[in-house]
Parts: sequence; structure tokens; C-alpha cells
Amino acid sequence: MTSIAANLQAVRARIAAACAGAGRATESVQLLAVSKTWPAASVREAIAAGQRAFGENYVQEAVTKAAELGDPGLEWHFIGPLQGNKTRLVAENFAWVHSVERLKIAERLAAQRPAGLPALQVCLQVNISGEASKSGCSPDELPDLARAVAVLPGLRLRGLMAIPEPSDDVRLQRSRFALLHDLLDRLGAESPGLDTLSMGMSHDLEAAILEGATIVRIGTAFFGERETTT
Ligand SMILES: *Cc1c(COP(=O)(O)O)cnc(C)c1O
Repeated sequence: MTSIAANLQAVRARIAAACAGAGRATESVQLLAVSKTWPAASVREAIAAGQRAFGENYVQEAVTKAAELGDPGLEWHFIGPLQGNKTRLVAENFAWVHSVERLKIAERLAAQRPAGLPALQVCLQVNISGEASKSGCSPDELPDLARAVAVLPGLRLRGLMAIPEPSDDVRLQRSRFALLHDLLDRLGAESPGLDTLSMGMSHDLEAAILEGATIVRIGTAFFGERETTT
């Protein structure tokens, strides 16, 4: 068995154990393999092991990789910082965007989503670590942003995403993830159909699943240590 196949099995086992501990069905958590910095050959190994959904942070890298793989059955998720001059490539090439934090970006994605494609699935990124993080809208800004994004054509607002500051303290990890869950519940009272909590990475997926994650984004535990860190 290749190491990526072994890693995939190990990550699936962690997800299954965390779901069992949380009293949740294993199928309620989707595994997103974060393939940033890894070549198409690594993605091919993951595909051979049964993985179909991949997360990328760099638009050009992702588009080149997807073209090299040429597999229309894959599902690409954009999870990195998104600038206005990159929205068209994202709107044309991805099924999901997890990292929308400003209305302007959402409006560009909506205008640029090709009519022939299904709606772009969108999560709003929220800064739940206060000043420790620069990415994401503040919890205060979230309700207005969600209201505005929910009505844009070509997009479907699915939920929230966060990248809390790394911590080894499981209680702190859980309290951050619980905060995101709470924000989603409050939005859901007004906008039904929000079903996605994109939270949890290699080091904290168990805490995220305990607090209701529906998508975990796993890079290192899946592909190995990256040479560049992001
Ligand atoms: C890199 C990255 C991940 C994966 O992180 P690991 O710690 O390698 O699992 C998940 N989400 C985002 C937004 C990332 O940039």
C-alpha cells in the first residue's frame, strides 16, 4: 500500500473514531484532502485510494494541477485567501469556495460564475481567534455579509469556515469551534439551508468533529509535511 493510501485510511479511522465519540454518523463528515504544494502525481495516488474532493489555496497552482489531471469527476474546493483579480479563475474552475470574507469578492464570484455550471457552493470565513488572525470577517460583520451573499445569483451560501489559531489545548480548540457552530445556528434562524461547518485540520479534527464539523480540511496527515508552510 502506498503511503498516501495508508494515510487516507488512518485519517478515515480518526474521523470514524471522532464521530463515534460524538455520537454522529461517519458519513456526516466529509474529508477534504488539502493538496496545496503537492504535485498532480500525489493527487493521482489519492484518487487511486478513493479520494475525490481536494482543497487548494493557490488559484494558479490549482488550475494547472486540475488541467494536468483532466478528471471531470473530481471536486475542487478553494480554501485560500482570495483577491479580486483571481475571482474569475475560481468562479470558472471550482465547485466550492470556503474563504469568502468580503461582499465585494462574493459579488465578483457571482458575476463571473459561468451560466452552464451549477451554483458555486460558498462558505463565509470567520475570524474566531480575534487579533491572532487576520483572515475572515468578524463575528459582528457576519450577519450582514451572510444576508447579502445569500441572495446573489450563481452562488449558494452553505455555511461557515474558520482557521483558529493553532493550540494544543483541546478545550480551547473546542471552544473556538463551538463559537463557529453557534454563529451558524444563529444565521440559520434567518437563512435556512445552511448546513456546512468547514473546520478542523490535521491537528484538531477530533475537536472540530465533537463541535459539529461537516467538512474537515486535511493536508499534512494526508499527504505528509509540506516544504512551504501556509
Ligand atoms: C493548509 C490548510 C489546511 C490543511 O492544514 P493541515 O494542518 O496540513 O492539515 C486546511 N485549511 C486551510 C485553509 C489551509 O490553508
